[in-house]
Amino acid sequence: MPERTIYLDHAATTALDARVLDAMLPYFTTEYGNASSIYTLGRHAMQAIDSAREQVADILTCRPTEVTFTGCGSESDNLAIKGIAFASQKKGNHLITSPIEHHAVLHTCQYLERFGFKTTYVPVDMYGRVDPDDIGRAITDQTILVSIMYANNEVGTIEPIAEIGRICRARKIPFHIDAVQACGSLPLDVTELSADLLSLSAHKFYGPKGVGILYARQGMRILPQLQGGSQERGKRAGTENVAGIVGAATALRLAYEDLPKVQPRITSLRDRLIAGVLSIPGSQLTGHPTERLFNNASFVFQGVEGESILLNLDLLSIAASTGSACTSGSVDPSHVLLAMHVPVELAHGSLRLTLGKDNTDEDVDTVMAVLPGIIEKLRQLR
Ligand code: PLP
Repeated sequence: MPERTIYLDHAATTALDARVLDAMLPYFTTEYGNASSIYTLGRHAMQAIDSAREQVADILTCRPTEVTFTGCGSESDNLAIKGIAFASQKKGNHLITSPIEHHAVLHTCQYLERFGFKTTYVPVDMYGRVDPDDIGRAITDQTILVSIMYANNEVGTIEPIAEIGRICRARKIPFHIDAVQACGSLPLDVTELSADLLSLSAHKFYGPKGVGILYARQGMRILPQLQGGSQERGKRAGTENVAGIVGAATALRLAYEDLPKVQPRITSLRDRLIAGVLSIPGSQLTGHPTERLFNNASFVFQGVEGESILLNLDLLSIAASTGSACTSGSVDPSHVLLAMHVPVELAHGSLRLTLGKDNTDEDVDTVMAVLPGIIEKLRQLR
């Protein structure tokens, strides 16, 4: 039995980087001021937020005033989509998204449908890719927003986001990118991506939980979703989570500083993992074979329940996921796999292994030593 947990669920969350914790600590202890207070302690807090905002703007290649700190990735998605929708009611009521988005996007669109908004869900292919031309065809004179994820959280497929951005820009339709999973892996230059809005979540890139980031291009009219004080230039009321904001910005900077070193190592671990798992009979890779996040290895297995694989791995201190972490515990097959036309029976047998910077070759060896036996045992039990 391995002594430490082999953590293979980095798409669900990541451990806080020790350097990030160091940057955050003073804002819990000595620098505890409220950023709205005008005395020195308050001004220090505001300076820390200003500097964090500049660091984020540096990575996104945008203006600091275009960066809003929120409470999580879900809040950023909500603020972008509801914020644009409610501010654009006079222009139209039509939203475009895909059926494989995170629930933070899908449920927000469904919520807006109660208020008279209509959503077009453009289909995805068997790899989970949106065809940018379908976006172009779906745009009407009522369209007020297109929201497509940069990379999928379950299968790791990377969407042709820059192409979609160009189409939206040419048609003057605001474009929101849910970049929560892509952050730390893929370039985030908002100009290159033609993004008008872009959502991030710090806990996915070794930052703290409970901090989101929303980029909103200057001139985008978004209606705030939290009423109260005038924090975040009126876009998001509430006393700022200073330590969290400092942590989010530090983590973002470090993620891109570390990327050249981390990416080749994790990519080779992922490729070994994929090759190893695909040697198990009745297994299939899900998501795009090449256009996928470098840390994502996701599969379906014939004749096995994903939950049972997870529980068996957990007994051996291996943490993995079946489909989206946010839906684990529910027995419904993943909406992502169903939208990719994976047969329901196969979709029940999904396993997602997402690597991180602390994983080693031995971790992959351990998984490969136990997984074939677990699958075989579970098949015999059926
Ligand atoms: N969007 C995507 C693609 C995600 O993977 C997640 C989290 O899993 C979210 C949004 C929500 O982020 P948060 O957990 O910070 O609310």
